[in-house]
Amino acid sequence: MNGTPGSITSGTSNGTSNGKGPSGHASRAAAAAGEGRSCFDPKHETLELGALRALQLERLRGMVTAAYERSAVYRRMCREAGAAPADMRTLDDVRRLPFLEKTTLRDTYPDGLRLCGLDAIIEVHSTSGTTGKPTPIWVTRRDMDAWALRNARSLWMVGLRPSDLLQNCFGYGLPTSVGLQYGAQHAGIGVVPAGIGRQELLIDLIMDLRVTALCTTPSYALYLAEKAKERGIDLATDSQLRIGLFGAEPWPESGRERLAAALGVEAFNEYGMGELLGPGMACECPVRDGMHVWSDHLLVECIDPETCEPVAEGQPGELVWTSLTSDSMAMIRYRSHDISSLSWAPCACGRTHPRIGRITGRSDDALSIGGLVVFPSQIEEVLVRFDEFGSNFCMVVENVSNLDRLTLQVEIRGFDELSDDGKARLAKTLAGGVKATVGVTPRMELHAPLSLPRDTDGQGKTACHRVDDRRSC
Ligand code: ZN
Repeated sequence: MNGTPGSITSGTSNGTSNGKGPSGHASRAAAAAGEGRSCFDPKHETLELGALRALQLERLRGMVTAAYERSAVYRRMCREAGAAPADMRTLDDVRRLPFLEKTTLRDTYPDGLRLCGLDAIIEVHSTSGTTGKPTPIWVTRRDMDAWALRNARSLWMVGLRPSDLLQNCFGYGLPTSVGLQYGAQHAGIGVVPAGIGRQELLIDLIMDLRVTALCTTPSYALYLAEKAKERGIDLATDSQLRIGLFGAEPWPESGRERLAAALGVEAFNEYGMGELLGPGMACECPVRDGMHVWSDHLLVECIDPETCEPVAEGQPGELVWTSLTSDSMAMIRYRSHDISSLSWAPCACGRTHPRIGRITGRSDDALSIGGLVVFPSQIEEVLVRFDEFGSNFCMVVENVSNLDRLTLQVEIRGFDELSDDGKARLAKTLAGGVKATVGVTPRMELHAPLSLPRDTDGQGKTACHRVDDRRSC
């Protein structure tokens, strides 16, 4: 690719060819060139930095004013923090405003942060994956349109065009991944709203409908590929899949090759939080060096989770999100607890919107084992380097005689064919790799493929199974 924004609009180039036979690419490129419609929006996506920051400030003022006037809860929080809408003179003044936490949403359940009457609401979603009551996320027509537009931008950016067929294998129902469907439809891209579960059907749909793109969690995508293999189908070579959009759980850079090998797709990373309507917040461009945050709609900060002060550009910190255009909710300075980094450096694709790095952990998810801080993502980063690693693992943490003990349960490809000696050698090698990275030597338990517990939360998330902390029991 030549690295100019214009190149993004021209057909299905951008390195998305995966060499899967002649059928698709020429015709798809021709169709894209001829259809005359683009969801690439240079006016906003390549807006000069100063103008982008000015637009953000103008929208921040409007957002804070609306929240202050319409939500008694938010007004009280601002007063307690000694902040008011008139204080927003520069973007840095956002730091005067109070943080919102998940507990804020729970404390104001169900509608303390809602900014409009029910007559304006057209959909209600809900966050998931937490204990306690789910948090309703209210959506107006205007929110819905902006949400669809942001998702359409992301899908267009990674190379999807109206001649593609996208299978959405995120959970349907209250979770917010339906935003990808709205985005695809906004862009004129066909969608198979498949959801998750019934994997035989999902595989049939991919094959029989000649699905070209898949969005789901990386672990569920690998799981589907394994299940297909059991039926003698290699999704990498036998399907028409060419693009994969993966999110909802962190995945390491090394996962890109794994996903490509298992599914035959160019793998892109996307980011969303249910509290801010989920997908459509940030996504990789064809350069694939960080995820562009759609910054005409969102303001992102990267802070030290301990001091809450901003970290230097490019340094690891916690992402804090402000919706600049929400019609219905005061989502201002919401702490994600996702650890990432933020860069305003120019991107070769020409977009000016800042990029966040891949999520490397959660500030509230870190495990302290024997005094060392360990993230599940660090363990995964080690395991995926080994061909023998299946697609699932679990960290079991116990307290034995007042000492923390980490047991790593790992699914191993070809488990049944391995001799006892082979298993012992492999366990030792894996343990050594983990020790070298996180400083803790785990006890190893090797398991057959697909034998560890999998997602049951309805969304394809497996993160809840990555940690089994038994110390508090
Ligand atoms: Zn870019």
